This record gives sequence, C-alpha cells and structure tokens, in this order.
Amino acid sequence: MPPPTHNSPGVIETDALIVGAGPIGLFQVFQLGLLGIRAHVVDALPHAGGQCIELYPDKAIYDIPALPSCTGQELTERLLAQSAPFAPTFHWGQEVSALQQNTDGRWAVGTRNGPHFVARNVFIAAGVGAFQARSLSLDGLQQFAGTQLLHRLAEPARHQGQRVVIVGGNEAALEAAIALVAARAQQVLLVHRRDVFQAEPGTIAQVQALREAGHLHFIAGQVTGFEATAGRLQQVHITHGDAQNTTVPLDQLLVCLGLSPKLGPLTGWGLALERKQVPVNPATFETCLPGVYAVGDINTYPGKRKLIVSGLHEATLAAYAAAERLRGAPVQLQYTSASQHLQRLLGVADEATTPAPAI
Ligand SMILES: Cc1cc2nc3c(=O)[nH]c(=O)nc-3n(C[C@H](O)[C@H](O)[C@H](O)COP(=O)(O)OP(=O)(O)OC[C@H]3O[C@@H](n4cnc5c(N)ncnc54)[C@H](O)[C@@H]3O)c2cc1C
Repeated sequence: MPPPTHNSPGVIETDALIVGAGPIGLFQVFQLGLLGIRAHVVDALPHAGGQCIELYPDKAIYDIPALPSCTGQELTERLLAQSAPFAPTFHWGQEVSALQQNTDGRWAVGTRNGPHFVARNVFIAAGVGAFQARSLSLDGLQQFAGTQLLHRLAEPARHQGQRVVIVGGNEAALEAAIALVAARAQQVLLVHRRDVFQAEPGTIAQVQALREAGHLHFIAGQVTGFEATAGRLQQVHITHGDAQNTTVPLDQLLVCLGLSPKLGPLTGWGLALERKQVPVNPATFETCLPGVYAVGDINTYPGKRKLIVSGLHEATLAAYAAAERLRGAPVQLQYTSASQHLQRLLGVADEATTPAPAI
C-alpha cells in the first residue's frame, strides 16, 4: 500500500516536520517514531528517495551496514517499509518555501502551493536542495507544464498515436524515446545538441537500431521557439548546428534535461550557511535556530562526510535531542531487541522473542 499522503491546503500542527524524503529524511521518521513522535514529511519530488532515486536508482550501493549490496531504489523501499509502523504523513510535490518562528516558540513552515505547518521541531533533511527539472528557457512555455510539456515520462501508453518531441541526450531521454516507440506514438523525434549521448551503451544501441529502422527520428540541434494557438502548443522551432531552422508539429513536448537541486528558499530562513551547508552542533544536530535540526548532506560539522551511514547516525541523535526538548527531561536509551514498549510501537510485540536484560 502506498504511504498515506495529505495534499490539502490548511494549517497542520505537528511535533515534527521533516523537510526532505531522501534516505535520511526517511530514517528520521523511524528514529522519531521509536521515541513516540509522529512526523509529517514534505518533499518537492513526487516520491521518496532523494538522490538515491533521482541520480542513481539502479546503481548498487555497497556501504550500508548489513546490506552488502542494494540499489538506491531498494534502499528507499526498505527505508519506507521500516518507517511504515510510525505512519508518517507524506506531502509530495511540495517545496518548503518559508520558515519563521512564532511567538510561542513553534515554527511556522510554509510550502509554495500546499499546506502550512506549525511544528515544534523541524528537521531539515534537504540534501543538496530541492530537485527541480531543468526546462527550456522559452518565454511562455511553462503555461503548458503538466499538460503538453512534461519533464518525465510517467505513462508511455498515454501517448499512443501522438507526435512527441523529446529534448535531451541522457538515459531518461533515450529510455523515453524507446518506450514511446514501443507504445506506438505516431511520431517520436529526439532532439539533442549533438549526435552523442550520455547513456548506457545498451540504451544507445537500442536507439541507434530504432533510428536505422526509421521508427525514431533524430535532429542534432536545439528547440529555440514554439507556436501555440487556442491555448495549445502546436509546433516547435528547432535550430540545427548549421543555423537552419526546422518547424515540427507536435502534440507533446518531453524535456529530459535532468534535475538540478536548488537550495532556493532555505537560504532565507535565518540559518547560518557555510558553502551551501548548514552548520550544526554534532551532539544534537541542532542548527543555530532552537528546535531546527539539519541532518544528512545538508549539514556540516568538523569531520563531516556526505555518506548515507553518517546521516543515519545524525538522524538518530537529532531524534533524541528533539525528544528531550519536547519532554524537557533526559530520554533513556532503549534497545529495540529488548524493549517491549518499542516492540509495541513497531507492531512486533507478539513476534519478539524473550526480552534480553536491560543495560
Ligand atoms: C551518483 C551518486 C552515488 C552515491 N553513492 C553513494 C554510496 O554508494 N554510498 C553512500 O553512502 N552515499 C552515496 N551517495 C551519497 C548519498 O546519495 C547522499 O549522501 C544521500 O542521498 C543524502 O541523503 P539526504 O536524505 O541527506 O539528501 P537527498 O538524498 O539529497 O534528499 C533530499 C531531499 O530533500 C528534498 N528537498 C530539498 N529541499 C527541499 C525543500 N525546500 N522543500 C521540499 N523538499 C526539499 C529533495 O527534493 C530531496 O528529495 C551517492 C551520491 C551520488 C550522487
């Protein structure tokens, strides 16, 4: 079952708000859950996984403890499953735009188009920033975003019988071209600056075969303009390397120029920043703002290494610090292998073996 979502606008009060659903944001949910704190999680992307999903979903990772090898995709699925007992509420496709302290000490957190939160603790797990699709900088083109202008191919079958222009030369662009031919798009045209692609050799070979068979067309050039009538994108202008222009009618424009992470709004939240990273106290991972923690790739402290394993540690200590802040008292360490309380929270109390003695 997909994790619960909550996309309706409104003010949501919470003990914990996590900005970013990359691997560290997901593990933050788990560590907070063990301490009895439920979290809301906001991510600019429409799904979990951060860099692991956006930048290397199929590559194997070899340095996760007790997992000799797993892909970014698998790691994300495992982290989601591990945090599921704590029923986090995810808010997908929402960029956190504002953070401001209320007079009662809580944090007012705003998203660009969605819900607003009032949170006692905020965990910034923003990695290298909010992932945003690179687009074509053509005035007025964005009005077609989500309709005739797409930045990822979600459902190839929806484009059966359509004329599709794909811009880009990366793995996503080439895979989209292959998928659209397979889905029987009426015409698939790939446009890239050069007849050289940045993709797996097998993918490039498939594209070459489709080109040779006449199922896929290619132009080495750039989309430099478009024409729209009656609120619909009708054609694009493509400028070739030899300064010639070609006009191509189309139903759909798919721009696959990759994603670029943007720190964006975070720079205006009153956090100290050192080379685009947020300095933290390495005992608590609290920032210079009380009750605002920074974990994972976004933070910096002496000896910081941008590794998943480091972020998992940081999320653990940040959860303890926030729990102590909420309770106003020290929080005792408990082992999941021994504590019936934790096992009940995890929903495994009946399965658990005889508890080991507490230390
Ligand atoms: C090619 C590659 C290979 C790697 N291989 C390894 C490896 O083998 N082992 C290893 O340990 N590490 C590896 N890493 C590093 C690892 O991926 C990162 O350390 C890890 O992803 C950091 O996780 P995170 O949760 O801190 O941030 P991210 O994974 O960057 O996730 C941050 C999330 O926050 C969201 N976000 C940011 N700002 C906002 C905002 N304002 N509003 C809403 N959402 C926001 C983003 O959309 C993103 O989803 C690799 C990195 C790359 C690029």
